[in-house]
Amino acid sequence: MKIKFIGTGSIRADRFSACAFVDDKILIDAPNGAMKQMKRLGSNPENISIVLITHFHGDHYFDIPFLMLELGLTGQRSEHLTIVTPMGESNKLKQLFTMGYSVETWEKLVNNTNLEIIEIDDGESLQLHGYDIKAIEVEHDDDIKCLGYIVSKGEKTFGYTGDTRECSGVETILQNTPITVMDVSFVQKIPSHLSLAEAELLAEKYKGKCKIIATHMFDEIREQEVKNIKIVDDGDVVNI
Ligand SMILES: [Zn+2]
Ligand SMILES: [Zn+2]
Repeated sequence: MKIKFIGTGSIRADRFSACAFVDDKILIDAPNGAMKQMKRLGSNPENISIVLITHFHGDHYFDIPFLMLELGLTGQRSEHLTIVTPMGESNKLKQLFTMGYSVETWEKLVNNTNLEIIEIDDGESLQLHGYDIKAIEVEHDDDIKCLGYIVSKGEKTFGYTGDTRECSGVETILQNTPITVMDVSFVQKIPSHLSLAEAELLAEKYKGKCKIIATHMFDEIREQEVKNIKIVDDGDVVNI
């Protein structure tokens, strides 16, 4: 599998908002500006077949309207575009779209993209296009549900935490994957994201079992000395 980092920043960071494109097929999160950034990095949004939304904060789904326009304006897709979201919240996709464009346009794009929306809950798995996708709930802000994902194809597997504090969900992802892309937002400790020090402790704990790749980073993270964590930049590719 190939993980291409479309964005590796947090909000207010220099880098684009955190987002990854797996095997030119699976987009993990669709943050502000993701479609334009994909094009700048030589990735074609038309190749997106599956979108995994970790949670409904703007820096994780605000490019959904532009994704729908990219994929649905020019004609009919034969295969489904599948958008996977946390349970009970997928109505936000249409809500957001229709703030900027008409309901008729949404319906046309739903039809043209053959859109299938799947809501998923903690511990549930999906089989899509030969991939096994498992949702693991993590703890982020108290008022929002956030999912991490474990994505597998054959022998290959990796984890993606979404925005999270230290919690059992993160440990589950680390225990079950050899590579995990993790929210490492801050240098200092705060309640809703992992800090660099917390991430380093987890990297130490899972050394030799799971390699941690940091994403969703504030700029100051890049000025720090890191020990066991891999820091990536927009456009970087990691092959598994
Ligand atoms: Zn968030
Ligand atoms: Zn975020």
